[in-house]
Amino acid sequence: MEKIKMTTPIVEMDGDEMTRILWQYIKEDLILPFVDLNSEYYDLGLENRNATNDQVTIDSANATKKYGVAVKCATITPNAARMTEYNLKEMWKSPNGTIRAILDGTVFRAPIIVKGIEPLVKNWKKPIVIARHAYGDVYKGSEMKIPGAGKAEIVYTAEDGSETRELIHNFKGAGIVQGMHNLNSSIESFARSCFNYALDIKQDLWFATKDTISKKYDHTFKDIFAEIFEKEYKDKFEAAGIEYFYTLIDDAVARVMRSEGGYIWACKNYDGDVMSDMVATAFGSLAMMTSVLVSPDGYYEYEAAHGTVQRHYYNHLKGLETSTNSVATIFAWSGALRKRGELDGNSELMAFADKLEKACIDTIESGKMTKDLALITTIPNPTVLNSRDFIKAIAENLAK
Ligand code: NAP
Ligand code: MG
Repeated sequence: MEKIKMTTPIVEMDGDEMTRILWQYIKEDLILPFVDLNSEYYDLGLENRNATNDQVTIDSANATKKYGVAVKCATITPNAARMTEYNLKEMWKSPNGTIRAILDGTVFRAPIIVKGIEPLVKNWKKPIVIARHAYGDVYKGSEMKIPGAGKAEIVYTAEDGSETRELIHNFKGAGIVQGMHNLNSSIESFARSCFNYALDIKQDLWFATKDTISKKYDHTFKDIFAEIFEKEYKDKFEAAGIEYFYTLIDDAVARVMRSEGGYIWACKNYDGDVMSDMVATAFGSLAMMTSVLVSPDGYYEYEAAHGTVQRHYYNHLKGLETSTNSVATIFAWSGALRKRGELDGNSELMAFADKLEKACIDTIESGKMTKDLALITTIPNPTVLNSRDFIKAIAENLAK
């Protein structure tokens, strides 16, 4: 069989632990037999990040700017325990944070829907994609405990030294205060990423904040989205037959629960953090959730939503059998290859991505799955496969 050719490389970012093992299996069994893979390889495994003083992460992000499409394996974000485990020179930053800072994007997470893994919300028939703004608000807040009576204010000192003040509260006793911020530039790129992604997957975009209560802060989000939509996207949305819809966050939550899915839900940082866990759980499993970073300049980085599955990796090292779900990582590959195909006008590559995803879904729907899914499936007597055999079962379907 003739392998599918690729004209432009994708950026391949390898990672850590169990997902690094799956990465090899996926390439060997699902990609390399069918595609003449053209990738620029970066080893983002923690050992190599340490050896290169994390330069490899920066290089991989810059390569993504050059080629436009990347596929990333899950990586360890070091903490104190990892410092000793890997004998690290420094507590290197989260690779996702570094890459996001360079590409300046928004993260979109979508559930992979299969028959037999039923959403807990029974009217959800189509995926709900969460678009989470990943900058500022409470995640970059400063806080203070107020010990007793006194006045708390917000003070803005302009470069010329002039001050603007706003009273927070005249405390009569002990309490707490919090200050947070966001940047117009960050909100603008968040908005453009959301509008571009909606056009990309041809689905409606919903956005919601608490602008009735937060008349300056949240209202600025609403205004920036509205302004950019009117100026840059209204016609494109009309042509694509999709809609941009703004509502109050309370109303959005109620509508989401009643909906059948099939749209993108753009969320401020905190809302996206909380709501994506709810949506992921209600759809079944974190291992059945795709994640893509979309930059406002049109760069794409595909990955799984879960981590390196450390507990399974330690079992693997002990020689014990693992049953780790590789679907989200496979979908990261299919997402990147499809996007590459789209950008290069390579329809064969796009068709391969579709077939790879269909092979995953067919395998699960035929009752062959990993343990995490077997525990929640409505399919009677599922066959539980180990990590490798599950990928081999997908490969068999794919070859057909
Ligand atoms: P995790 O890797 O997401 O795994 C947490 C638990 O979820 C696993 O122990 C497993 O449960 C279940 N699970 C997750 N993915 C699964 C899969 N594909 N198949 C089957 N079960 C799955 O989170 P973690 O163990 O808290 O984090 C491990 C490392 O990942 C950390 O060093 C963290 O920094 C890193 N991380 C990286 C990313 C990223 O690169 N995007 C994201 C999050 C975390 P059971 O043990 O019950 O089977
Ligand atoms: Mg969360």
